[in-house]
Amino acid sequence: MAVAPRMPIESGCPDPIQYMHPTMRRNYGQWAYHDRPRPGVLRHTSKHNERIWTVRCGTQRQMDVHTVKKLADIADEFGDGYIRFTIRSNVEFMVDSEDKVNPLIEAIESAGFPVGGTGPTVSMISHTQGWLHCDIPGTDASGVVKALMDDLHDEFKKAEMPNRVHMTTSCCQTHKAT
Ligand code: SF4
Repeated sequence: MAVAPRMPIESGCPDPIQYMHPTMRRNYGQWAYHDRPRPGVLRHTSKHNERIWTVRCGTQRQMDVHTVKKLADIADEFGDGYIRFTIRSNVEFMVDSEDKVNPLIEAIESAGFPVGGTGPTVSMISHTQGWLHCDIPGTDASGVVKALMDDLHDEFKKAEMPNRVHMTTSCCQTHKAT
């Protein structure tokens, strides 16, 4: 008799609230405004006058488990233990005190990740799957984007563009680049 195949566990997307920084959880839907103290740092202030600082960094986009663990270790040691990935694969660390911001930035940059990508910068470049997963690519996506990001490294950090710049590439006509 044939052995029944192992079936996937379909559990869906988990509730994200449980993974949020406690300050974000307490102030969900209650933010009054935010500003940018320096490139790569956001400061949100809530209607209850609580504040949270977000430090954003770039990565090589295609990450192995060791790189993800390295980022998580930085969050545990220098942040409050919380990170999230943005839709463009920036990584954001949240802390509840201004004193933690500079040591966190130093730890992130000394591990090789550039801090930036907020406001009028060239944020991380998003791309389609390319040679990694897809079976019809006309060209690669991740390799080209890594080379582009290396070239635009300063523009990620400096925040000197006329406005926010978001770039996207794709490797066939199915998903046109924007
Ligand atoms: S853009 Fe085209 S080639 Fe690239 S991953 Fe999507 S379907 Fe595949």
